[in-house]
Amino acid sequence: MHYNRILLKLSGEALMGEKKYGIDPKRLKEYAQEIKEVVDKGMQVAIVIGGGNIFRGVAGASNGMDRVQGDHMGMLATVINGLALQSALEIEGVETRLQSAIKINEVAEPFIRRRAIRHLEKGRVVIFGGGTGNPYFTTDSAAVLRAIEIEADVILKGTRVDGIYTSDPEKNKDATKFDTISFNDVLRKGLKVMDTTAFTLSQENELPIIVFDMNKKGNLLRVLDGENVGTKVNL
Ligand code: UDP
Repeated sequence: MHYNRILLKLSGEALMGEKKYGIDPKRLKEYAQEIKEVVDKGMQVAIVIGGGNIFRGVAGASNGMDRVQGDHMGMLATVINGLALQSALEIEGVETRLQSAIKINEVAEPFIRRRAIRHLEKGRVVIFGGGTGNPYFTTDSAAVLRAIEIEADVILKGTRVDGIYTSDPEKNKDATKFDTISFNDVLRKGLKVMDTTAFTLSQENELPIIVFDMNKKGNLLRVLDGENVGTKVNL
């Protein structure tokens, strides 16, 4: 295995599976099984989960809601998804801890960096909920921030597409995929990997990002095995 400690970013939308809203139990189970395979190989796994399948602050604001209020709802949505993922992992026999960036002590541990690292060292999967705990950020930013804090070797962004393309492959049939690309080239070519705040934070801290298709069975393990799956963003 090429990595010892990884941070996996899963979007909330990914959890919808075939559904239009909320959580698809089938998809959740598949993800839990994929993650278990990696844990069984002895890798340390931390996860940041999004909330877009339930609520996004921007969507609330576009309907007249106060943005900060909406973002609080979005952060709570990530905690709901975190609980769902925790439950699915435990059903597969994986030990987990959920840590939240917003205090919700009856439901999740508070985020404590040293404690998170200790859990990882003991082989527990640590799920980070509540994003960064601040409005106006995304869970991509939370993923990069937590990855740096826990000194992860890489951040894996599981998406619906199998990497970074010259243009949107869902719109343009001629789009071709990069196997690797530099942070600077992503910016120069105006490609979209993460929001700018998250992307820049990753670049400044020399944290590589791998974008890959999480919905193809076995892909997570393939990426970690060093197979040419997805696109790696490097310095
Ligand atoms: N959010 C926030 N601060 C954070 C992370 C998330 O306010 O640090 C809110 C924000 O409203 C966001 C929502 O939580 O729209 C869900 O997160 P995100 O959109 O990143 O989820 P994803 O797109 O990955 O499903």
